[in-house]
Amino acid sequence: MNLYNLKDIKEKVNFTQAIKLGLGKKQGLFFPEIIPKISKKKIKKLINKNFITRSQKILSMFIGSEIKKKTINSSIQSSFSFPGPKISYIKKNIACCELFHGPTLAFKDYGARFMAQILSLLNTEKKSITILTATSGDTGAAVAHAFYKMKNIRVVVLYPKGKISTIQRKLFCTLGKNITTISVDGNFDECQKLVKKAFNDSDIREYTQLNSANSINISRLLAQICYFFEIFHLVPKDLHNKIVISVPCGNFGNLTAGLIAKSMGLPVKKFILSTNSNNTVPRYLKTGIWNPYKTISTISNAMDISRPNNWPRVQEILKKNKWKINKHLEYGSVSEKSTKKHLKELFQKFNYISEPHASIAYTLLKKSLEKKNLYGIFLGTAHPIKFQETVEKILQIKLKIPNSASNYINLKELSYSIKPSFHLLKKILIKK
Ligand SMILES: *Cc1c(COP(=O)(O)O)cnc(C)c1O
Repeated sequence: MNLYNLKDIKEKVNFTQAIKLGLGKKQGLFFPEIIPKISKKKIKKLINKNFITRSQKILSMFIGSEIKKKTINSSIQSSFSFPGPKISYIKKNIACCELFHGPTLAFKDYGARFMAQILSLLNTEKKSITILTATSGDTGAAVAHAFYKMKNIRVVVLYPKGKISTIQRKLFCTLGKNITTISVDGNFDECQKLVKKAFNDSDIREYTQLNSANSINISRLLAQICYFFEIFHLVPKDLHNKIVISVPCGNFGNLTAGLIAKSMGLPVKKFILSTNSNNTVPRYLKTGIWNPYKTISTISNAMDISRPNNWPRVQEILKKNKWKINKHLEYGSVSEKSTKKHLKELFQKFNYISEPHASIAYTLLKKSLEKKNLYGIFLGTAHPIKFQETVEKILQIKLKIPNSASNYINLKELSYSIKPSFHLLKKILIKK
């Protein structure tokens, strides 16, 4: 598999290099030179296969001979060894695809676990690797768990202080061992900036082999393609030619994966790009002007990102396929008030307990489907318990804590606490 740098198309790397480097020159993202196209007939066959077998086939198509098929297969097998996607039918023309039944209760488990498997496989050198990543809430836990106790790999996670929920924090700040967590007195974009700076610092690079496990890493995106195919396996066949998928977007990794699946031939009619009030992209699509505002804190905190890293990849896919905005990709942003209103609606009208991120995707989906003979799926990106305080307050109910999360609640948090200063981060990175 070959990939090129979106900021410098002359820089070409293979899959292994792309995973190890994370970003290319000028902090450009890597993009696959070829997206495998699958015929309609083969797509149908593929959809009939089970999740693991199908995912192994999809990943092999991308990765090719660079990694042995047997190895790809066993990596997928161990990455996806948890309860996969589930469809909850909400009403006549709308369902939720729940991607949160993994170990850290958010869809990020899919990408993070596959990346961990592949990286540990590639780590044949003796030099230790440091996974340095910023999280707006769910990546931290997914990455920490995926790499927990792996030999020769240290994980360092930065998160914005006071801006992620208790359960989110407990799930990864309590692990210890090869997991270091840092609470930064700032917002997610500032955390992300610190991470980018570290990647450009020669002292740090000399000291350790750095890797970002953010959704900029291509291995995460490839793993996420798999569950878009699974949606078609799970829903009745007579819906297959009218499916619209609404994706709650933050860093736009999830949407990128969905659009790649569509490029491969998965017959998704249309995607809906849903954001909260951090709506740089919807404003850009409307006005043609890229003008990120200061990041605002919302109840859908995993989407509080005003400079989404994966956006150039989305643009590349649209350009390559000559897909038109509105025809293939609708967009919108949802206010805090409307997020709450629709969260309540899901519960009171349809007896479905959701959470703010999915509620945003539902809100725009519902609006888009009005008077159309289409079938909508919104992605359930996290378990409601991850936003326990918010959901309980809005719905006036008490949530049950799933067993997998209750184990962490009473553990001590082990995080460092710093101001958003690169100097302080560097000290932590080089100290141990
Ligand atoms: C990460 C996350 C998102 C945003 O996904 P991106 O791939 O960054 O766009 C949405 N919802 C939840 C719950 C998340 O954790």
